[in-house]
This record gives sequence, structure tokens and C-alpha cells, in this order.
Amino acid sequence: MSYAPVTPAVVAELRAIVGDKSVLVDDERIEAYGHDETSAEEYGHLPEVVVLPTTTEQVAAVVRLANRERIPVTPRGAGSGLSGGAIPSFGGILLSVERMDRLIELDRANMTVTVEAGMVTNDLAHLVQAEGLFFAGYPMSVETCFIGGNVAENAGGGKAVKYGVTGRYVLGLELVTPTGDVVWLGGKLAKDVSGYDLKQLVVGSEGTLGIVTQVILRLIAYPKAASDLLALFRTPREAIDLVPLIMGQGIVPTGIEFMDRLSFQTSCAYLNETLPYGEAGAMLLIEVDGNDAARVEAELFAIGDLCEKHGALEVYVGEDRTTIERLWSVRRNIAEAFKVASPVQSLEDIVVPVARIPDVLPELERLSAAYGMQIPCYGHAGDGNLHATLVKDPAMDLGTWHANKDACLRELYRVTRDLGGKISGEHGIGLKRKPFLDDVTNPVEIELMRAIKRAWDPANVMNPGKIFDV
Ligand SMILES: Cc1cc2nc3c(=O)[nH]c(=O)nc-3n(C[C@H](O)[C@H](O)[C@H](O)COP(=O)(O)OP(=O)(O)OC[C@H]3O[C@@H](n4cnc5c(N)ncnc54)[C@H](O)[C@@H]3O)c2cc1C
Repeated sequence: MSYAPVTPAVVAELRAIVGDKSVLVDDERIEAYGHDETSAEEYGHLPEVVVLPTTTEQVAAVVRLANRERIPVTPRGAGSGLSGGAIPSFGGILLSVERMDRLIELDRANMTVTVEAGMVTNDLAHLVQAEGLFFAGYPMSVETCFIGGNVAENAGGGKAVKYGVTGRYVLGLELVTPTGDVVWLGGKLAKDVSGYDLKQLVVGSEGTLGIVTQVILRLIAYPKAASDLLALFRTPREAIDLVPLIMGQGIVPTGIEFMDRLSFQTSCAYLNETLPYGEAGAMLLIEVDGNDAARVEAELFAIGDLCEKHGALEVYVGEDRTTIERLWSVRRNIAEAFKVASPVQSLEDIVVPVARIPDVLPELERLSAAYGMQIPCYGHAGDGNLHATLVKDPAMDLGTWHANKDACLRELYRVTRDLGGKISGEHGIGLKRKPFLDDVTNPVEIELMRAIKRAWDPANVMNPGKIFDV
């Protein structure tokens, strides 16, 4: 694909649209926009110009200019993505929504909140919690990511077993289309079958079908009671085998998080935290919530009993919010801890049907031995979503690492497909998984996706080169 460069005349026009201070061209100021949380060395690419609009009209004007000049536009939220989606791989215009972070409306009667796409997800969570309301679809990166980025990735998190992922809460969104039109899709409606559900097509489209500028989210009442338990197991296999049993007994936990020994040890070392893990080879962190405290406790104890019956070494019930927060902090920080401890790595995001989750670990052990790399594993086990992380052995040279990593990933993804799974449960395809998508996806499905992209973005300027090539 070839695009026109960002000329001084284009920069001048961008300045006229968003204002002088909202256009960045200096190397040191645009450097931070050239990568996300994937490896900058492997995937990073600098934009030619960064624009920071504050209104939907400004976003639309920038996109129309990009179409006219045939310059690529890459939408960006907080840059916490783990698949390279926000990287401007063809240069061009990087459009960050960071200055579009306003609350538009909290509508109690309809139990909705309308916000701009650049609001930090945690700010949104706190804002509605202060009103006794709950936005349940947020990811573990809640403190940094933006709601627009969550919509674009259809992010999920530690509460997805019970509450589902971001898309379940998106009732409506304002979109600047790839050709620069502005459209509201959906609204404050509990039901809507008036034609194709374009709003849900945008959810998870990784910024390739337009720029989300506002979102209407469904809220629910904040649950009055929540309780957590930590179950320790001798082996990862014992822990993971229990997940379908827990799910099959009729109690719906808020989340079931799995951590193997290397994962929790690395996170504990990073946080300078001590957990009572002793001989444990793996842990399950399980949360139950609801409005009736006695029922929550009974359900948590029933799960604890099941863990003990199936070989748990210890079961600890979180006595207070401080202890519970410490446990969740260990889980939330694993990805960051691995980045610091083993910077050359590949964080994966496979998802399989919950009943097949016990079949994944033996395959990881096999691949680890075959390719000479450690593959620690953690993740949202209650959703069948595991973050296996391929870690480079310090003794392995970089050339061998890249070849082994790619071969290992190809095999891992085929195994995942054969178990009825998909290669990404929440982090998306972006740049990182694009080379592998064709191999594990029906060509008819890929061609349907390409046809949608061509129809929405005839000039192919909206985040080109992501998910698949057109
Ligand atoms: C420590 C850590 C933990 C994480 N935990 C989770 C987790 O539990 N669950 C999970 O799902 N993810 C998780 N992630 C990944 C990441 O935080 C999510 O994908 C998040 O939704 C990205 O939001 P962002 O604002 O940072 O988007 P960015 O990284 O800036 O962008 C992500 C994609 O969305 C597009 N985009 C961004 N904003 C818009 C917009 N307004 N309109 C259109 N397209 C847009 C971009 O083009 C890009 O393709 C984690 C990441 C880290 C670093």
C-alpha cells in the first residue's frame, strides 16, 4: 500500500482544524505515540504527525482531509493495547482521543452513562460507583486504558464470567466513519432490531471501521456484597481441571483467575509482595458477588469445599478488602512484572471452550520442551481465556528466538483452533497476530471481513494494515 506523505501544507491544514497546540510534529513529542504495550523494537513505527482533537467535528474534519489526501489515520486511546492496534504502521496521522474525556450525561432513569471516548476507564468506574452504579465490563488495565479503546478491542476482564465483556454494555456509540461522516449507532434502547447491528460490528473492530467519539453504556446496580477466595494447588493441572467443575455446579462466580507458579512468583517479586504460597504450583483466585451477603458467603464456601475435595492444598477466604485487593493486585500486575523480568517475550491470549481448558496445559508443556522456552501461564480461566507467555531463554540468540517463537505460535494457534478456540479472546489481532489469522480462520470468514472493510473504507485510510491486509 502506498500513501501520500504529510506535507507542511497538510500540517497547516490540521493546525487550522484542531489548533496549533493540538498538532505535534517534534520527534521527542511523537515518540510515545509510535508504540503500544507490545515490543516497540518488533512492532513500533512513528507517525508523521499527531493530532489531539477535542470535538467530534474536529475528528471528522481530520478524517475527511485524510481521505482527500490519501493519508492513513490511526486512532489511539491510552496505548495500553497488547496487539499493536494503535501503532501507525504506515506513518501518517495519529489521532489520539486523549483530550476527549468528558462526561456527557449520567441518566439514572435509563441506567445509562454517556461519555467521550478518551475517558480513563477507572474514572468512569469511580464516577458511576459514587452513584451506587456499576460498569462491569472493564479490563485489568482499568487504571490506564480509555473507554474508546475498550470498545474498539471489546475488552474483557476479571469479572467477565458473570458480567460479560465491554460489548454487553455498549448501547450506543457516536462514530466518525472512515470517510469522515458522523453517525450515532444504537441508543438508550434495551432492544433494537432495526436493520443490521452496526454498533456491535464497530465493537471489537480495532479502529479499522472508524473512530468512536462517544459511548452510551448500560449500568447496573453496584453489588452490595463480594467475597474472594484463593485456592492453592500442587500442580497447574489440578487447578485448571477444577475450572469446568466449578462452572458446572450452577453457581456463577464473578471471575475465576488462574496463575501458575512462575506467574505469581514474578508478580510478587515485582510488587515486593509475599503470599502464603509455600509448595503451591498454581492458584485459583475466585470471586463471588451479589446483593445478599449470606448467599455470597454460602456460594463461596461451596466453591471452597469443591476445591478442597479436588486436592487444593489450602483455601484462604479473603477476610477484608485490603487482603482481597492485595491478591488482585498480584493478578493484575503479572503482565507488567513479566515485561520487567523478561523483556523479550510474547504475551498470548488464546481462548477455548471452558470444558476444553484442561487440554491446554499439556500442550503448553509440550511446546515449551519442543521450542526451548518457558511458557508461564495465567489468565481468565473461567472464560477459557489463558495468557500463555512465551519467554526467551537468556542463552538463546535473538535470531533463534524469533524463528522458534513464530513456529511455536503457529503450532499453539492450530492447537487452539482444534480445541474449538480462537487465537485472541480479548487483546485483538492488530499487527501482532495478523500473520497467523489466515492459517486458523475459514477463508470465507476472512473474505466477509475484507468485504466489510472495503465497503466502509474505500480509500483504506482508517488504521490500515491491522487484522488483515485488504
Ligand atoms: C497490564 C495490562 C493489563 C491488561 N489487561 C487486559 C484485560 O484484562 N482485558 C483486556 O481485554 N485487555 C487488557 N489489556 C489490553 C488493553 O488494555 C486493552 O485492549 C484496552 O482496551 C486498550 O485500550 P486503550 O485505550 O489503551 O487502547 P489503545 O491501545 O490506544 O488502542 C487499542 C485499539 O483500539 C483502537 N482505538 C483506540 N481508541 C479508539 C477510538 N476512540 N475509536 C476507534 N478505535 C480506537 C486503536 O486503533 C487500536 O486498534 C491489558 C493491557 C495491559 C498493559
